[in-house]
Amino acid sequence: MSIEQRLVEGNNAYAATFTQGDLALPPSQKYAILTCMDARIDPAAAFSIPLGSAHIIRNAGASARAAFRDLVISQQLLGTTQVLIIKHTGCGMLTFDNATARKLVKESKGEKAAEEVEDLDFLTFGDLEGKVKEDVEWLKSKAVEKGVSVSGWVYEVETGKVRRVV
Ligand SMILES: [Zn+2]
Repeated sequence: MSIEQRLVEGNNAYAATFTQGDLALPPSQKYAILTCMDARIDPAAAFSIPLGSAHIIRNAGASARAAFRDLVISQQLLGTTQVLIIKHTGCGMLTFDNATARKLVKESKGEKAAEEVEDLDFLTFGDLEGKVKEDVEWLKSKAVEKGVSVSGWVYEVETGKVRRVV
């Protein structure tokens, strides 16, 4: 079965019992979670987030800089007032740097592709907890984030447990 077929099949089962079509657009609990796109994290299940209650923003490494647009939209247009930045153990972003990523692109895709990512900051990091703190500080330093509560967390993919860093 292809991925597409599995998606349609899974969705048919989901929609057959779906009853929450009348939820409001703004998240009812007024908070946003920013976490990594890592396939081992299931935010709704891991943090018990009911449908319609929070924004879940995901990118590689749970980068506040990469999610800045989403966070501003979440707060200014949709009324969230709290952000939880949740990075995680074993994150792929701990395993390479800009030079490595550019080299890989060049080797697998060629010169033109390498040029396309030449100025791209892959926003990798070497210190997990340090980067959680730095992202929280960076976000708090933004004028547009005034009045927004920001906390930083680490989720352990090995245990399923989350712990607060800052
Ligand atoms: Zn990750």
